[in-house]
Amino acid sequence: MDCLFCKIIAGEIPSKKVYEDEQVYAFYDIDPQAPVHFLVVPKEHISGPSGINEQNEAVVGHIYSVIAMLARELHLDKGYRVVANCGEEGGQTVGHLHFHVLAGRMLSWPPG
Ligand code: 5GP
Ligand code: ZN
Repeated sequence: MDCLFCKIIAGEIPSKKVYEDEQVYAFYDIDPQAPVHFLVVPKEHISGPSGINEQNEAVVGHIYSVIAMLARELHLDKGYRVVANCGEEGGQTVGHLHFHVLAGRMLSWPPG
């Protein structure tokens, strides 16, 4: 399958790893939007938020617990934001489920 993040998970495209286990891979975003900006993705290919279903939903809970653990390790004590973009109007550009973790500056709300 021609998927950028599957290639990153497989090591075919280099990335700066934050964390890895059997289910997930986390790596720094190539175009950071905050002083800390990394992505957490399931190793299983899921097309995006709209591809989550009863068969694969467990990994989403695992991803959130991994994010909480990484936030402690990286001392993101002042807070952080988790974002999953979906579809064209949601701003999704890569068709493999990913959770942005942004931190290190005051983040505005609502998003543009
Ligand atoms: P989306 O726009 O789909 O929510 O997020 C995709 C993210 O992937 C973007 O923030 C973009 O900067 C990042 N990205 C795209 N290509 C690469 C790459 O080759 N390596 C890394 N580390 N990040 C990438
Ligand atoms: Zn993929």
